[in-house]
Amino acid sequence: MRKCEDTYRHKGLRKKLIDVLREKGITDEQVLKAINSIPRHFFLDSAFDEIAYEDRAFPISEGQTISQPYTVAYQTQLLQLKPFDKVLEIGTGSMYQAAVLAEMGVKVFTIERQKVLFEKTKQYLFKCKHTNLKFFYGDGYAGLPTFAPFDKVLITAAAPFIPPNLIAQLKPGGKMVIPLDEGKHQRMLRITKNTDGGTIEEAFENFSFVPMLAGRNG
Ligand code: SAH
Repeated sequence: MRKCEDTYRHKGLRKKLIDVLREKGITDEQVLKAINSIPRHFFLDSAFDEIAYEDRAFPISEGQTISQPYTVAYQTQLLQLKPFDKVLEIGTGSMYQAAVLAEMGVKVFTIERQKVLFEKTKQYLFKCKHTNLKFFYGDGYAGLPTFAPFDKVLITAAAPFIPPNLIAQLKPGGKMVIPLDEGKHQRMLRITKNTDGGTIEEAFENFSFVPMLAGRNG
């Protein structure tokens, strides 16, 4: 992440993005407030400065992407976050989604399998403000057993199946938001864990994510 300015122009573009997200059906005011507070252009290469607030995904390094703002808003809204929730994110990528979660005041644990991307988290710009955000290098399929159980699990890569370890690391009553791969696209699912350990699945819109891969890279 590079250091840069958050100008009035950037702030204005961000406000317009919030209008776009509202038009597309995002209603959670806490989510919109967090997105309005986080300068997305800080998480992109400076070449994208002018277009950082378009509702589009962009390439970051290692062939990965920063999720589209609508996708970030949609997944975050589905999580139904409560103050002090413990949230596990799989796929740190650009750190943008993690920053939005941290801005909402929940405790965030985020895992990345690409060493190069993980190394960049050491320069996280809001380190002093977001003391509730912790970065890990590892395989998301394994989760973080040491820090489990979690109230919420958010997967930000296309999962070929529902990872059993991550269901095991959910608290009873906890929720997982996961884009489950169906070949051409991914179906967004919200899985709620019952007190008896069983699960309830709700299906939402289709999205397009980079794949959730096994093992660490680097
Ligand atoms: N949340 C990110 C989205 C990045 S794209 C953002 O806001 O920018 C998905 C990320 O998931 C990629 O960085 C990819 O390397 C990572 N990823 C894929 N499989 C993974 C796994 N098994 N464990 C951890 N991270 C994984």
